[in-house]
Amino acid sequence: MPDQRDSQVDAAVERLRPQLVEDRRHLHRHPELSYHERATAELCAERCEVLGYTVTTEVGGTGVLADLDSGRPGPTVMLRADTDALPITERGAHRPVTSATEGVMHACGHDGHVAMALGAAAVLAGMRDEWDGRVRMCFQPAEEVAGGAQPMIDGGAMEGVDRVLGIHLWAPLQVGRVAVGPGPLFGSADEFGLVIRGRGGHGGMPHTSIDPVVCAAQVITALQTIVSRETSPFSPAVVTIGRIEGGSAFNVIAEEVRLRGTVRAFEHAERERLLQRIAELSQDLAVSMRCEAEFIRANGCPPVVSDAGVAEVVRRAAVATVGEDSVDPAPRVTVGDDVALFLERAPGCYFLVGAGDVARHPVAPHHHPEFDIDERCLPVGAATLSRAALSLLNS
Ligand SMILES: [Zn+2]
Ligand SMILES: [Zn+2]
Repeated sequence: MPDQRDSQVDAAVERLRPQLVEDRRHLHRHPELSYHERATAELCAERCEVLGYTVTTEVGGTGVLADLDSGRPGPTVMLRADTDALPITERGAHRPVTSATEGVMHACGHDGHVAMALGAAAVLAGMRDEWDGRVRMCFQPAEEVAGGAQPMIDGGAMEGVDRVLGIHLWAPLQVGRVAVGPGPLFGSADEFGLVIRGRGGHGGMPHTSIDPVVCAAQVITALQTIVSRETSPFSPAVVTIGRIEGGSAFNVIAEEVRLRGTVRAFEHAERERLLQRIAELSQDLAVSMRCEAEFIRANGCPPVVSDAGVAEVVRRAAVATVGEDSVDPAPRVTVGDDVALFLERAPGCYFLVGAGDVARHPVAPHHHPEFDIDERCLPVGAATLSRAALSLLNS
């Protein structure tokens, strides 16, 4: 990129710095749960409209699309930010801003994602004569339940899109650093359920019934061998049972036990194999104990995979923003993100922007009641996003 445009981005982001912080704090104070991001959507729509974007609201629910056309032929580059918060009560009174809604909290940094995307939308609008093609801002709801991307795609979000860019703020990464690279960044994330059915009866006479609680205990233990005994140690995988529910009294043998769990993998074939083995192992084990197991496949999304070419564009944008020494290769993290569905449909890059001052004090993990971001991350993300978009819009 010519030096002149580079310094234009720096100057624009510098001017936007107070706005980035103000937007992030406003959103942090007013978090909204998945599928209920109405005020957030309104804010995104209003701001983009003022900047000259053509805005479409209620895309697949509470999603917002905003397009800005240069009037010259060129690629369409989509900048995606997720908008939802989590059902968590925030702790930590020392912060500059805390959630005003009891039981709801931006504990994953999505408030920052929206602020940075609005910042990039402003930078790109201000430099409209400097690029070709079309910018599409995509404010996606319901990421935390992996339920927002697909309805937006069904609503036309990916029509004509050539490249996709997105940021996840990352508290375990030192603020001022960016991590980016080709290939998988986040794993697939699938939810599943198991219903183990037996035959209820008297707790004192177990031989007259079929105990699904004992069977469930065996199933939970056996499922761990899918990772430890059947998966290559060089292929990261996770099987977690997060919820178990069954029985009504200490002396009653239950009719059924319900389990819920999640599976993570980094390759499509592995993802499918793990899910299939969970079904097979639990069903066969249940039968061997005279029970019956039903496997239910629920919401899920594929791994988040960055295209090598686009990842290199983002890496150069990050180097121009924070310097070569502050850019790390992308780690692999076993969280999921339904940005994966956009990235399956067009080459793109999802990257991490450091959001914690890990050098100074311990940082609460994402989805924790004390989670916080270091707001110095906001200009870094906005500048890197703007630069990467400008490069793609001039190719
Ligand atoms: Zn999250
Ligand atoms: Zn998140």
